[in-house]
Amino acid sequence: MLKVRDLSVRFAVRRERAWREVAAVSGVGFDLAPGECLALVGESGCGKSVLASALLGLLPGNAEVAGSAVLVEDGLDLLAADEATLAGRVRGRRVGLIPQSPAGHLTPVRTIRSQLAETVRELTPDADRRAGVVEAAERAFFPADHLDRYPHELSGGLAQRAATALALVADAPLLLADEPTTGLDRDLVDRTAAELRRLVDAGRSLLLITHDLTAAEQVADRVAVMYAGRIVEIADAAAFFGSPGPRHPYARGLLDALPTRAFTPVPGMPPALDELPPGCAFAARCPAATSVCTIELPLLDTRTRHPACHHPADHHTLAPPTDIPSHPDETSGSSAYADGESTDAVR
Ligand code: SF4
Repeated sequence: MLKVRDLSVRFAVRRERAWREVAAVSGVGFDLAPGECLALVGESGCGKSVLASALLGLLPGNAEVAGSAVLVEDGLDLLAADEATLAGRVRGRRVGLIPQSPAGHLTPVRTIRSQLAETVRELTPDADRRAGVVEAAERAFFPADHLDRYPHELSGGLAQRAATALALVADAPLLLADEPTTGLDRDLVDRTAAELRRLVDAGRSLLLITHDLTAAEQVADRVAVMYAGRIVEIADAAAFFGSPGPRHPYARGLLDALPTRAFTPVPGMPPALDELPPGCAFAARCPAATSVCTIELPLLDTRTRHPACHHPADHHTLAPPTDIPSHPDETSGSSAYADGESTDAVR
């Protein structure tokens, strides 16, 4: 369905009277098959949403994009396609977007019914418009008695469901869902996850961008972990969430942060994307870092699935580092690596 290779996005930004390059996405590659969900997970600001915007040509003018993102069916490279192609043949028709900020996505002066009807007319001109509106609303669990409301009359969760309904109108074979469960209560998260999984089981490809690992576990076939603009690990979802668990220390930290697990946050903050270090961007927060980590950039091997780490979980002794300073927020004993081999026993 989709082959992404060496996708990079750079922004030129002016800061303190100087131009700086922000490396929002670097060297990202993955495949997405029909009937498969790949969950792209990671903290806010790691490049997940920028990646989705790049695939749909929705980046601002100061973005520079490199690499390729090919729709396998006909070889169309989304990164090389012009605006007319993206607008007329791709967005909504072949690639549907469930946006991160539905309030900004919906037209504020028109009711949800009106917006859905327009989308049904544009994308499925042969369909019964009335039935199409109701069907799209039902699929996204948007209540029929709210269809005549304006976006400002909706809660955040209902606005999210309205935006989801718009994305589902044309049955696009590839869906990009950018934080589709944001603002929803747990019950609706579960229902939305079940609906997304149903769409995948019906043959669609889904790139699920989320920081909600619980939702990712419910929907995904594979998980890709992003950190500071790079994918640092790709794994089958069953192995990632179950046994043996992820191998990259950041990925393990994400899981440990879940309330249902150790409930221990990853210490520190991600680096600024215009000040990335020469080595591993996670080194300042990583309990397994050694001197080589601060010098050599570790790269993901997508063929062997070796994570972008010099000392992945099953290749080192899990001893805490001694040769570079710990992050100031790091507390002893909070690390998944602090107790040596016993770390693996809890996964
Ligand atoms: S062990 Fe080194 S390379 Fe691996 S995540 Fe930690 S700092 Fe990065």
